[in-house]
Amino acid sequence: MATRFWEARPGRTFVGRLATGSDLVQEIERFCAENDIRAAWVSVVGAVQRSAFAYYDQEALRYVEVGSDEHRELSGFVGNVSPKDGKPFLHAHATFSSREGDTVGGHLLPGNPVWVAEVTLREMTGLELERTPDEITGLALW
Ligand code: ZN
Repeated sequence: MATRFWEARPGRTFVGRLATGSDLVQEIERFCAENDIRAAWVSVVGAVQRSAFAYYDQEALRYVEVGSDEHRELSGFVGNVSPKDGKPFLHAHATFSSREGDTVGGHLLPGNPVWVAEVTLREMTGLELERTPDEITGLALW
């Protein structure tokens, strides 16, 4: 697979606060589906009541699930939305920090109940970023 870039045009920009107790991943995907957002750049500042994320094992070609039942600050979040199986799919990596300030993180999974989440979502238009299976990595990629 050769390096590829697509040119995107800026679309709508949304900022929002997710409901306490809602699922961080599912709530962003739901908002995108309801507002016909096919591609977007997403950032979040906030905290979660517990965390669910994963590490991708590059030899086994599968995700290893990791998580914590502790309350955590969402100290980093970078993500994008694009269609997968015809529905908006959020791909995000997040860093979570504890009371002591140590951090863990990885590929975000459903299962992160929001305590606070301030979301900035920038729609990208003029491109199609459908995710399809990639033979080398085993992942669904652009
Ligand atoms: Zn990932």
